[in-house]
Amino acid sequence: MLNIDSLQNGIVIDHIKAGASMTIYDLLELGKLDCCVAIIKNARSAKYGKKDIIKIDGDIDVNLDILGFLDPNITVGIIRDGKLVEKKKLVLPKKLKNVIKCRNPRCITSIEEGIDHIFVLGENQRYRCAYCEQEYSPKSGKRR
Ligand SMILES: [Zn+2]
Repeated sequence: MLNIDSLQNGIVIDHIKAGASMTIYDLLELGKLDCCVAIIKNARSAKYGKKDIIKIDGDIDVNLDILGFLDPNITVGIIRDGKLVEKKKLVLPKKLKNVIKCRNPRCITSIEEGIDHIFVLGENQRYRCAYCEQEYSPKSGKRR
């Protein structure tokens, strides 16, 4: 078992909305990592009531850009030698690959399988499909 309080070198993804940690685990492909990953669900948070936390034990390079898209409230801390050395500021990634899908039924990504779903961030801070330029509008309400 990973002793979550004594992370020596690794990454702490904190302030995840309660229940969202598995989605993040999958999107970041943490299951493919060799190192120890701890998911803490429904931790108590003064700010949000309940939250999830993911701790990754290891000096690894994970592309965390996607977190900025998922939830800007998430915080990322980098731990070195048991100390928090960096807090990463999350920004919207310039490009999203296979995170969201184009809803245009005529888009090539809807017609053909096996094509990467690529969205590019526009100047208006919205994402457009790289193939058909259809703008992505986040569904209101709950995910799924
Ligand atoms: Zn499209």
